[in-house]
Amino acid sequence: MIAEIISVGTEILLGNIVNTNANYLSVKCAELGIINYFQVSVGDNEERLIKTLSLALSRSDIVILTGGLGPTKDDLTKEVTAKVLRRNLVEDPHTKERIYSFFQGRNIKDITENNWKQALTIEGAMVIDNNNGTAPGLIIRIEEEKGDNKDINPYINKVVILLPGPPNELIPMFEQKIKPFLSSLQPGILYSEMVKICGIGESKAESMIQDLIEEQTNPTIATYAKTGEVHIRVTAAADNYELGNRLVKPMVDELKKRFSTAIYTTKEQESLEDVVVALLAKHHIMLTTAESCTGGLIAGRIVNVPGASAVLGEGFITYSNEAKQKYLGVKEETLKAFGAVSKETAEEMALGAVKASGSKASLAVTGIAGPDGGTKEKPVGLVYIACALKERVTIKEYRFKGNRQKVRDYTVICALDLLRNSLIKEYGV
Ligand code: ATP
Ligand code: MG
Repeated sequence: MIAEIISVGTEILLGNIVNTNANYLSVKCAELGIINYFQVSVGDNEERLIKTLSLALSRSDIVILTGGLGPTKDDLTKEVTAKVLRRNLVEDPHTKERIYSFFQGRNIKDITENNWKQALTIEGAMVIDNNNGTAPGLIIRIEEEKGDNKDINPYINKVVILLPGPPNELIPMFEQKIKPFLSSLQPGILYSEMVKICGIGESKAESMIQDLIEEQTNPTIATYAKTGEVHIRVTAAADNYELGNRLVKPMVDELKKRFSTAIYTTKEQESLEDVVVALLAKHHIMLTTAESCTGGLIAGRIVNVPGASAVLGEGFITYSNEAKQKYLGVKEETLKAFGAVSKETAEEMALGAVKASGSKASLAVTGIAGPDGGTKEKPVGLVYIACALKERVTIKEYRFKGNRQKVRDYTVICALDLLRNSLIKEYGV
């Protein structure tokens, strides 16, 4: 089945907002095994929206429109869709009641007239409640038995889905109602698992599974490069989940054999910091961070995880040389002899953090994030990461490529992965 995403809004064309809805919906379609050939952005203009929707309906089975469902005059999506499908707009008492309660719940007494526009639905549409706003979504399935006549309606069997623009409204509606609806259109199911790898670059990872990629049929495998990580999705088309799982398992086992401990999880929802926090908690180890070029990003990632307080008591941001000396006890001679960005400084930072906090583990980073500050010997992207765990310190040198943001992001991932590997080395998997 082929889907097309139409993002409606002049704001998108002007670059005032980033089109995250199209990104989100295309990822979701791919997960559902729905092919996406076209994505279009169009302004709040009736004529161009009519053209865009008509073209989409001529070449795609499912058309998902986002935005332009609100109460104002420039919100045209529903009106245009009704026009193109030649259906009437009718008032939906259920939505009208919901809009009324929405405003009452916010203690708004005088509801402006234009809000009632949102209570209109397209004849024959399935209304999708919006729990975070007033504009409902709509699913219109064009079927013969609903009275559509092929001679006058060329869109038989097509599906049109309308969703509001704000992501906090669209995402829950998609997850709760649209996703199950779209899967019901597919014969059988798609079962997939995600293998997440750290510490191996994308091209190396791909070359390690080239033969599997070339031979793939069912399940299929696809690699996705993330900053400092590679994710491999294994997907099987099957009649049911049990069969899907059985088809996917040998491939996942093969990936485990090839990538070994570079795999940090095979769970779709699990992040690197989730795994690190779980390992620390399992072994009752408190961590202390000592960050220079990442300025707190590592501690921030750890704190992303609910329950992080069990494993992180404190963290140091020691950006200047003085701070490294004052809080972590880095020696002046070390800084003079080797510089702030050096193996020796990273080691003293890690040991200093353990000493200052009494924690069993620490992660220390020092590097040159750029764009300035690089030299021939110490270029931008040079980073040292030290991990202290029960008196043993492991220090690694990295030479990252990319801008300041990228260098810092890579540093965070590699630091978390170094800690993960140190924990595995000490305690096993
Ligand atoms: P509203 O009732 O808020 O007017 P709407 O369905 O009419 O919702 P729009 O008016 O098109 O949607 O957009 C409202 C807001 O939703 C935008 O200002 C933007 O913040 C967000 N938004 C719209 N489209 C997108 C998109 N494609 N990607 C991300 N955010 C979007
Ligand atoms: Mg709007």
